[in-house]
Amino acid sequence: MPQVQTVRGPVDTAELGPTLMHEHVFVLNADVQQNYPEEWGSEDDRVADAVQKLTKLAATGVRTIVDPTVIGLGRYIPRIQRIAEQVDLNVVVATGCYTYDDVPFFFHHRGPALNEAVGAEVPDPMVDMFVGDIESGIAGTGVRAGVLKCAIDHQGLTAGVERVMRAVAKAHRATGVPITVHTHPGSHTGLQVQKVLGDEGVDPRRVVLGHSGDSTDADHLTELAEAGFVLGMDRFGINLDTTFEARADIVVEMCRRGFAGQMVLSQDASCYIDWLAPGVMDLLPQWHYTHIHEDVLPYLREQGVTEAQITTMLVDNPRRYFENVGTY
Ligand SMILES: [Zn+2]
Repeated sequence: MPQVQTVRGPVDTAELGPTLMHEHVFVLNADVQQNYPEEWGSEDDRVADAVQKLTKLAATGVRTIVDPTVIGLGRYIPRIQRIAEQVDLNVVVATGCYTYDDVPFFFHHRGPALNEAVGAEVPDPMVDMFVGDIESGIAGTGVRAGVLKCAIDHQGLTAGVERVMRAVAKAHRATGVPITVHTHPGSHTGLQVQKVLGDEGVDPRRVVLGHSGDSTDADHLTELAEAGFVLGMDRFGINLDTTFEARADIVVEMCRRGFAGQMVLSQDASCYIDWLAPGVMDLLPQWHYTHIHEDVLPYLREQGVTEAQITTMLVDNPRRYFENVGTY
């Protein structure tokens, strides 16, 4: 029986149930928080708030969330463990590195950065770090990562972005753990992901192109789906440069085009994100964990998306993504 690693241990893929494939618990700048903790306030209060919000999510019937919080987003597993112990929800955590441009300074003078100095190919320590998180667990917690994460945004395939993407691909090839990529569909970054991951021998069926739902370009999304990728329609509720209807209608259109089997739904929400000044969240009243179940699914049904297609997107696609197809 294929299994997925979660914060509370391995879960059979058949038991994942309705799954939101991209939800954070916290998004933090760890070193800013260490030095300016006033806004964060009490650790106990933040944990209690997360337990309450995730308990409300679990009441919708969602059984699993995938939390792609990695280096660069303030991953801290002991806090997630404390929360997961108190909520009836599977939480899959990630390894990887989140950057749109350069690698963190930690990596500047390690690995491939030294190729020229030593006159030989130096392996990237990122690969071993990611593989260790997957096979041995994260920072002594015993919690093993169940997904790999990297990013590419409007800056395109910078040297740093490519280095992380190749390290993620190599860790995937070594472990079979699937990949989720933050992409910027407006600049067709999915095609660059296709090039790099294709070059590394990654099966696109094991890759979510995150934030695909930011686009309303059905032809571009069709091209990516036909290449085999899973499309992350995963920012429901972030309606700043777009609208509720635009995000929902592109899902309807892609279902109509026959791609329900290649979309996953999520919100990219969090209990607390320190990227936003206090009050900014008030501008995004639908950006929370239960928006899909309260607002999006009823709208999709109204527009003719079937119950079977919804189950495909919430249950079957996540399950298949996590099952090691074992083609390597
Ligand atoms: Zn995210």
